[in-house]
Amino acid sequence: MRFKLMSLMLTLLSLSVIMSFCAKQDAKPEGPPESKQYVPTGKISLNKGDTVFVCNCKKSCKCNTISRKPGNCACGNKLAKAKVVKLKKNTVLVKIGKKKTKSLKLKGKYACGCGKSCDCNTISNKPGKCSCGTDLVETK
Ligand SMILES: [Zn+2]
Ligand SMILES: [Zn+2]
Repeated sequence: MRFKLMSLMLTLLSLSVIMSFCAKQDAKPEGPPESKQYVPTGKISLNKGDTVFVCNCKKSCKCNTISRKPGNCACGNKLAKAKVVKLKKNTVLVKIGKKKTKSLKLKGKYACGCGKSCDCNTISNKPGKCSCGTDLVETK
C-alpha cells in the first residue's frame, strides 16, 4: 500500500515537471515581425480633402511635420489642423484655418516608427516625438 502511494506521488511529480516545461515552451516569445527594427519609408500618401495636422511654425522652421493625428510637432509646437487642397508629385498644399496655406514635402527624413500598429503616419525632417508619443526614427 505504501509503495503504491509513493509511486503515485512520483508519477504526479514527474507530470507536473513535464507540464511546467511545456508551459515554459509555450511562453517562448516569438513576437510579431513588426516589433523587429521597423524602418519606415518616410512617405505619406494623402488625398485631396484629407484632414492632416501640420507644423504651423514661422517660416524659419524647416521641420516639415505632417501627421494624421493631432499632437506636437518635432520642433515642440502644437500641430495645426489643416486640409489638403492640392497634391503635387512631391509636395502637398494644405489650408490652415480659413486663409493660410502652406506647402509641405510628402517625404520626411524621420517618421513614426511604431509600425503598422500605428496609423498616425507622422513624417518630419527633425528628430523628435511622434504625435502618438513615441520617438521618430530615421527613414531609409
Ligand atoms: Zn515645426
Ligand atoms: Zn506614431
